[in-house]
Amino acid sequence: MMSGNISLYQMCKCFTKHLPTVRMPVLCSSCSEKRAVLKRPKTGHSLCKACFFWAFEEEVHQTIVAAKLFKPGETVGIAASGGKDSTVLAHVMKLLNERYSYGLELMLISVDEGITGYRDDSLETVKRNQQQYELPLKIVSYEELYGWTMDAIVKQVGLKNNCTFCGVFRRQALDRGAIMLKVDKICTGHNADDVAETVLMNVLRGDIARLRRCTAISTASEGDGVVPRCKPLKYAYEKEIVLYAYFKKLDYFSTECIYSPNAYRGYARTFLKDLESIRPSSIMDIIHSGENLSVREGVKMPVQGTCNRCGYISSQALCKSCVLLEGLNRGLPKLGIGKHHRLHEKILSQQPLTESEERKLKSVDF
Ligand code: SF4
Ligand code: ZN
Repeated sequence: MMSGNISLYQMCKCFTKHLPTVRMPVLCSSCSEKRAVLKRPKTGHSLCKACFFWAFEEEVHQTIVAAKLFKPGETVGIAASGGKDSTVLAHVMKLLNERYSYGLELMLISVDEGITGYRDDSLETVKRNQQQYELPLKIVSYEELYGWTMDAIVKQVGLKNNCTFCGVFRRQALDRGAIMLKVDKICTGHNADDVAETVLMNVLRGDIARLRRCTAISTASEGDGVVPRCKPLKYAYEKEIVLYAYFKKLDYFSTECIYSPNAYRGYARTFLKDLESIRPSSIMDIIHSGENLSVREGVKMPVQGTCNRCGYISSQALCKSCVLLEGLNRGLPKLGIGKHHRLHEKILSQQPLTESEERKLKSVDF
């Protein structure tokens, strides 16, 4: 676990840019009384600690109110990983729920992917957060849900497609945890940088279906087994989340996953950070562009149905999770990944594969 200065510098290399370097004290541009301790990355305003906290929290509150994210009496599960975003989300949700009497019952839901040296440590942070915020916590694990940990999956599939397995399994795991806890909604710690990055990724991949829905601040329930989700930090800049966690001295975990994120997303992230350093409003501008895109009539969109095997939402006969699991259990790690659609169909309809087809689905990229 790391919290405080070290993690801060790891999270935000240009952090010092937002701390005062001036010799003359600068007054807070909001209260004009106290000394400014930072320059807001989002607006460029010099603020004291108290005014920054207030501005940050009020913006999240405005986001929640404007999008009508919650109704009084609802039970809300906060997806908690122990990282900075979900820790700030849990802190701010608890604070706003009390400050503005939202009338919500809050809980923490964590997913244990089974990554030794990463998730086991970050879950310790979540357990401390549970004590600090006095919220109930439910941990669902890949091992108990799927019979596979990410450590075992990486051993079988290698390091090229591991995040595909992890992402697909996590989505379903969170829903299953939410259903166990009987929550009405899940809120996730996705921030403005995440949303802008996803818009860019979907443009670069030509994924129109995802591009159309990736900026939505909330999703309605798409069927049984799918709990509505929302993103209260959708307009919060990552740098401000880091500053907020730092000045509030929140206890969070900031080590990268040992099975590091895929390279393509990394390029999109670096590109976005470069744009932000030249023009901070780039992040909001990309989100704004994504929100206002409209897809012309006639573009084929997937039709949502349910998985024949597990009943989870799916546009195919079997959901992605069941296809990937089938591949793992049969020692065919490429099943469900990328281009071999014809072979996937063949396997799933129980037709025998030729030797060379089998070889294709067995090959692993380390
Ligand atoms: Fe899972 Fe990949 Fe994220 Fe690691 S980096 S937690 S493997 S999605
Ligand atoms: Zn399924």
